[in-house]
Amino acid sequence: MNLEALKDGFQCPKCKGKHPVISEHAVPRAGAGKLPLPILDRYLFVSCSLCGFTETYNLKVVERVEELARQTVAQEAPR
Ligand SMILES: [Zn+2]
Repeated sequence: MNLEALKDGFQCPKCKGKHPVISEHAVPRAGAGKLPLPILDRYLFVSCSLCGFTETYNLKVVERVEELARQTVAQEAPR
């Protein structure tokens, strides 16, 4: 899964709209108040441009999936 695939494959479950609005947000993690800088969890918000229904993706997971995909490609490359 990558951002382009998310965008291309989007279909709103509410109104069947196919035009997402994508934005990225960093949210301070709860309980990290003792550090000088908060630990941020990053999320991707994919909103339907017609009705506003929003799906949320944890970017840590999305990026890990992309990393695994890259490793697979590297292993399959000819030696
Ligand atoms: Zn919609």
